[in-house]
Amino acid sequence: MNQINPEHQRTLSIQALTEEPLDVLIIGGGIVGSGVARDAAMRGLGVGLVEQHDFAFGTSGRSSRLLHGGMRYLAQGRLGLVRQASMEKRILHRIAPHLAEPLAFLFPTYRSTDWPLWQLRIGVKIYDLLCGGKNFGKSVSLSRDETLRRTPTLNAEQLTGAVQYFDALTNDARLVLDTIRSAANAGAIVLNYFKFTDAHRESGLWRCEVEDRLTGQNHSLRTRAVVNATGPWADGLPHSHVKLRLTKGIHLVIDHSRLPVPSAVVMTTGKRILFVIPWGERVILGTTDTDYGGSLESVGADRNDIDYVLRVVNEFFPTARISMEDVISTWAGLRPLLANPNGTPSDISRSHEIHNPEPGWWDVAGGKLTTYRLMAEQTVDQIVKSLKKLNGLQRKIVPCRTADEPLLLPADIAGLSGILPAEFGRRAVEHFCVNEWAVHLDDVMIRRTGWHYYHTDADRKAGQVAQWMGEMLNWSPAQRAEELKHYERANK
Ligand SMILES: Cc1cc2nc3c(=O)[nH]c(=O)nc-3n(C[C@H](O)[C@H](O)[C@H](O)COP(=O)(O)OP(=O)(O)OC[C@H]3O[C@@H](n4cnc5c(N)ncnc54)[C@H](O)[C@@H]3O)c2cc1C
Repeated sequence: MNQINPEHQRTLSIQALTEEPLDVLIIGGGIVGSGVARDAAMRGLGVGLVEQHDFAFGTSGRSSRLLHGGMRYLAQGRLGLVRQASMEKRILHRIAPHLAEPLAFLFPTYRSTDWPLWQLRIGVKIYDLLCGGKNFGKSVSLSRDETLRRTPTLNAEQLTGAVQYFDALTNDARLVLDTIRSAANAGAIVLNYFKFTDAHRESGLWRCEVEDRLTGQNHSLRTRAVVNATGPWADGLPHSHVKLRLTKGIHLVIDHSRLPVPSAVVMTTGKRILFVIPWGERVILGTTDTDYGGSLESVGADRNDIDYVLRVVNEFFPTARISMEDVISTWAGLRPLLANPNGTPSDISRSHEIHNPEPGWWDVAGGKLTTYRLMAEQTVDQIVKSLKKLNGLQRKIVPCRTADEPLLLPADIAGLSGILPAEFGRRAVEHFCVNEWAVHLDDVMIRRTGWHYYHTDADRKAGQVAQWMGEMLNWSPAQRAEELKHYERANK
């Protein structure tokens, strides 16, 4: 095989990270950290990024996968937020069309609810305008009969009609990986399983302590600026000034034949919104929004969460009788919302904040998957300005180009859905290990392929992938067994 050895590649990356001072060290390989890394590297800065687990291990691999302005925020009158996100969803469609598939949403309305049809009719028109008048399709209003003709299994009792509007479906973990690959392509040094542990100021720079979690070795590096982009972990980091309120959201995956919807469907309970989202031969159901105080490392969907989602789905599709037996897989993520002790979780703002509490240190928190590019642009603007002032940055720094420059395309084996035909198997696994930093079985099964969530025989596939990865990465039989055990533990 004429390929670079992943272990050797990692050693070179560690050397490059620790030799000379960086301009920016980014902590966190979720969508925000990878967005900042890509933007900063494309402008000409010397960039390093460290992620304690795998890239997209955190919230950015566990979202509802929507690029959206947010109909719910529109109802709350947050026009600025909706406009910002709506413009960003268009930009993402331009720079990564393979990761922004336009998707129609049917929003049915019922008598005596918080979502009257007349209001929604106006709302979707405003929604289209907030996209600069260029949404992926024109929203329409539907009569009761037309709504039932399109979605015959929908609950007809008290139904008054519907509106249909457009957002886009992405593959969140793939968006992170392709952004990281683009960052690396622009010169960023990126390392997963590499944890930031501490930092202090030293001669006008930050000295950061990091731990290689694959070998247990500690390293030290110097950098002019640090970005804390650790999502739900952000308020636990040394030097962080972030205050978060974490809320959990879960998703269920079932077969499309059990709920054969032609488009996404919006389901409301009071002011809350849940979605049915078509995903290939499956549909995704979610999500919840409840305060969370448990472990950040293992977040799961518990029985109460699952029952809640199933109850709402069965209210809207009573004849479908979806039950626990239909559930193929689940995932749960934590929203890193900016703290506001008052108000229900759903009321807390999804806006983002960028703070520079100490010289050369930035905390970036809040926001959404949809707005990550803008968050990155604003952060790097601040860093460039500060480095010029504090460190007399001499090199030529070019303006932000992330809104125009396409994301690096995935190799032809990885598409939007993350649903890879098994025949690509071995070749795909090699690609993930050599070009996409896959180290463990779950890196491939969960984040690089989505097979874990999609396939009913995911456990059997995991055995096959473990075999291929073992050959590629020289695992002993004991290591292979351990990988399988770890994969099982990670997802039960
Ligand atoms: C249920 C749910 C559904 C959502 N749906 C949508 C949606 O449909 N559309 C949308 O736009 N947004 C959605 N969001 C919001 C969006 O997913 C998040 O805002 C976004 O993913 C946060 O990204 P992040 O990079 O800040 O955090 P994360 O993705 O969590 O990344 C932070 C990373 O930092 C790493 N880290 C932590 N500490 C350290 C350390 N010491 N050293 C190194 N690395 C460290 C973590 O391991 C983690 O990988 C949803 C959120 C949830 C919870």
